[in-house]
Amino acid sequence: MPVSYAVVGGGVVGSAVAMTLARRGCPVTLFEAESEVGVGASGTNSGVLHTGFDAKLGELETALILRAAPLRERAVDGLGIPVLRCGARMRNAPSEIEENARVLGVPVTRDGADLLIPGEAVTNPIAMTRAFCAEAERHGALIRLGEAVQDDLPGFSVVLNCAGLCSDGVARRFGDDSFAIRPRKGEFVVFQNPGLSEILLPVPSPRTKGILVFPTVTGHICCGPTALDLDDKSDWAVRPEARASLIEQACAALPGLEPAPVFAYAGLRPAGANGENYVIGWSAYSDRLLNIAAIRSTGLTAALGIADYVCTDLLGIDDRPVGYQRVDPPRGPWWLRAAHHRRLA
Ligand SMILES: Cc1cc2nc3c(=O)[nH]c(=O)nc-3n(C[C@H](O)[C@H](O)[C@H](O)COP(=O)(O)OP(=O)(O)OC[C@H]3O[C@@H](n4cnc5c(N)ncnc54)[C@H](O)[C@@H]3O)c2cc1C
Repeated sequence: MPVSYAVVGGGVVGSAVAMTLARRGCPVTLFEAESEVGVGASGTNSGVLHTGFDAKLGELETALILRAAPLRERAVDGLGIPVLRCGARMRNAPSEIEENARVLGVPVTRDGADLLIPGEAVTNPIAMTRAFCAEAERHGALIRLGEAVQDDLPGFSVVLNCAGLCSDGVARRFGDDSFAIRPRKGEFVVFQNPGLSEILLPVPSPRTKGILVFPTVTGHICCGPTALDLDDKSDWAVRPEARASLIEQACAALPGLEPAPVFAYAGLRPAGANGENYVIGWSAYSDRLLNIAAIRSTGLTAALGIADYVCTDLLGIDDRPVGYQRVDPPRGPWWLRAAHHRRLA
C-alpha cells in the first residue's frame, strides 16, 4: 500500500504542508472544517513576512523562519501572491537587536537611532493560503472543505495535525495529551493609508512583538496587534477599549492621521497553554500522528520552512525541481473575508 497523507487544517501551515507533499508526488488530502481555507489565525493576522532579524538564536522557530525565506521568494513569485516589499523601521532600536540581526545574517542598517530592516514585507495572508491550496490541487491533492475531522482518520497512513487552535483536540483523538492550546487574541484597527510606506515596529518585549503600524497590499494601514490570553477559543470580538487605545497609538505614530478607522478585526494566535511554541514532531502516543501545532506568531512567515522541515527532515521525502503556476489572488482586504465568515458562523 502506498503511504497516504491527511492534513488536518487549511490554515497557512496546513496548506503549505499539503502543497509541499503534493509537489513531491505524495497522495495528500487536506481537511478544513470551515467552508474556505485561511479564515482562522492565518486570515486574521498582520500579514507581515518577517526576516527574523529579532528572533532568538538556537530556537526551532528562528531556524524555520530563516529556512522559509528563499522557498517563499520562489513561491510568491511563481504563484503571483501579492507582496509589498516595503521594509521596516524600528524606532530607537537597541544595539543588541542590531547585533542579533547580524549574527543571524539578516541585513539591517542604522538611520540614526532607528534600525532599518529592508527585507521586511507584507502580504495578503488569505491569498497566500489559497494559492498554496490551488498549487496542491494542481499536483493532485484533494482539498475537502467544510469537513471537521472528528476521528483519527483510520484510512490514512500519516495524519499531519495542523489544526491551529484545535490541534490539541485533534491530538486527543490519538490519545496524545502532551500539549494544550490557549488563544492569544490580537486586535487591529484599519485606516485608509495617508502615505505610510514602511512598517513601523516597536522594540519587542520578551512576550510579544508589540504594536505595529504598517501599510497593507490593499492601500490601507493597520495598527495592532494586541496580545490578550484567553480561555475562549471563539472570542473574536474587538474590545472597545482596545479599539480606542489602538486608534490613539496609530495617531501617535503617524501625526496627522484622521482618528477614523474603516474597520477593526481580531485574530486568535494558537499559543501553547504552557509556553510551548512550534510543537513540531512525531507524537509519542501514535506512530501515525505528526503534530505541527502551537505555531503562535510567525506561521505565515515560516509556513514553507515548516513544510520543508516536516517533509524533508521528518518524513524523508526529498524535494523535486517543479515550477509553480500563477493563481489569481482574491480581491479585497483579507480581514473582511475572515470577518464575513465569523458573522456566518
Ligand atoms: C493577531 C495575529 C497577528 C499575527 N501576525 C503575524 C505576522 O505578521 N506574521 C506571521 O508570520 N505570523 C503572524 N501571526 C501568526 C500566524 O497567523 C499563525 O502562526 C498561523 O496563521 C498559524 O497557522 P495555522 O495553519 O497553524 O493555524 P490556523 O490558521 O488557525 O489554521 C488552522 C485551521 O484548522 C482548521 N481546523 C481546526 N480543527 C479542525 C478539524 N477538526 N478538522 C478540520 N479542520 C480543522 C481551522 O478551521 C483552521 O482553518 C499572527 C497571528 C495573529 C492571530
